[in-house]
Amino acid sequence: MSAVLPVQTDEIVSYNPATGAEVGRVTQTSDEEVTAAVERGRVAFQSWKQTSFRERTACIMRAREVLLADKETIVRLISDESGKPVAEAFSMEIAPVLDLMQYFARNTEKLLKPHKIGIGIYGLMGRASKIVYHPLGVVGIIPAWNYPFSIPLGEAVMALMAGNTVVIKPSELTPMIGLKIGEIFEKAGLPENCVQIVSGGGATGAALVEATPDKIMFTGSVATGKKIAAAAAKNLTSVVLELGGKDPMIVFADANLELAAGAAVWGAFCNAGQSCSSVERLYVQEGAAEELTRKIIEKTRQLQQDTGDKETTSIGAMSSERQIQIVEDHVEDFRAAGAKIETGGRRNPALEGLFYEPTVITGAHNDMRAMQEETFGPTLPISTFTTEEEAIRLANDSEFGLTASVWTRDRAKGKRVAEKIEAGSVCINEVLYTHGIGQTPWGGFKNSGRGRTHGREGLMELVQPQHIHTNKLALMPDAWWMPYSATAVETFRKMTTTFASGSIIKTTMLLPQLAKRVRELLKR
Ligand code: NAD
Repeated sequence: MSAVLPVQTDEIVSYNPATGAEVGRVTQTSDEEVTAAVERGRVAFQSWKQTSFRERTACIMRAREVLLADKETIVRLISDESGKPVAEAFSMEIAPVLDLMQYFARNTEKLLKPHKIGIGIYGLMGRASKIVYHPLGVVGIIPAWNYPFSIPLGEAVMALMAGNTVVIKPSELTPMIGLKIGEIFEKAGLPENCVQIVSGGGATGAALVEATPDKIMFTGSVATGKKIAAAAAKNLTSVVLELGGKDPMIVFADANLELAAGAAVWGAFCNAGQSCSSVERLYVQEGAAEELTRKIIEKTRQLQQDTGDKETTSIGAMSSERQIQIVEDHVEDFRAAGAKIETGGRRNPALEGLFYEPTVITGAHNDMRAMQEETFGPTLPISTFTTEEEAIRLANDSEFGLTASVWTRDRAKGKRVAEKIEAGSVCINEVLYTHGIGQTPWGGFKNSGRGRTHGREGLMELVQPQHIHTNKLALMPDAWWMPYSATAVETFRKMTTTFASGSIIKTTMLLPQLAKRVRELLKR
């Protein structure tokens, strides 16, 4: 069996990676049809952008009801097409996206409310500045396969609430889930062409970029992110890139080791380790290493690995043969470099699909290749440190910077260390889950990405701010207008030390010179 999908014909066949069974077939969208979809989205945008927040909220809340009513079927589909346990389809896809939907449906108007900006001395001159937000147009969404439902749906909801229309190109590994997202909006009665789904692999994604949407929201690997950024640059299309991670978990000796062990197991193995924010490196302080490692191994051995449809399954299948081979390669790299495989370290011999056993590795070091490259699988390499400075240095020794966690009972130390970690989100005594908090920004430092999704910062990616500046006392010319003269230059010279200082007292010293200059202008 193989879950590596052929995209050579006009049909994509979707397989269950746990059983090899066919999940469905989807017709591949041609490049011309992708361009036409973006054009239709532009037309639909002209009406959608005129809708009130109240109308948009009603649409998203209806879509939410459709999703709730159909959730059991959707959970099965997510589990079948991606291999993840139904438990995680509920906890990591359905529940967080339902929360995101209600949050942005209810709060986007407030988050995008026009607001005044303080402009200091210009304000005393009768000027006022206000910011209003305009939607961008058509937003192209190109997601990965690992959270195939919640990531594109959440981004679509935010884009729509901001007044944009959307074209989604789902991953070729999860095309049926992509179609399901389109169906939800259709059933909710969203106006035609506000959400369109185009199906295909990388070439179809590239066609979407070439079709010049007004923004690209991309989730995937660094390599593809670079290609998309380069292609988008040709048309100055702006891009948000949500890329890979190699996320560190730092456990100090004073941490609650029982909790830290449970968090490490969930953080490393949920979604079979295929989360951008998976714990991919664990650094434990000498003194606590033995106890923490023992607890982690014990907890790992208790996990049930099986097909995703069983409610007691904690670890499902991986999504593709290509991905499982990367995991095998990295585990071999650890072995060859002298690290010890404490448990796991192989495909599960009792199961037929793409199952890799949850694997705990000790004696890992940052100079091992598998401690630098993203694994994206169920491995938990453990390394040790002695001082706080060393922990920070080891955590930051990576091209990635998506998320990180710090475990300690000393809150001041936790905060101090967190702020020194180069990552977009850092948790103290928590791990991985903040993508599920739609209110908070999500995105990476370094090669983990550019821009943000979620939160107010994510919404700002989906609008363009417009500055409206008003002169409420438009009775006389401004001193800096033409024609220039010796009086003008003297006024501007004095402005540098008075007006430009931001001090009202100093600026009053400029008033006689300003009056002279304005009189001069009025005479001309
Ligand atoms: P990928 O880069 O192979 O593919 C991602 C998407 O891009 C797919 O839909 C694919 O069809 C499309 N694509 C491929 N080539 C393209 C091209 N030239 N132009 C346009 N589109 C193209 O990534 P993947 O294997 O699907 O996902 C795994 C990666 O995603 C991991 O690195 C993971 O860390 C990352 N990820 C990041 C986040 C985040 O929020 N930072 C979330 C989930 C996954």
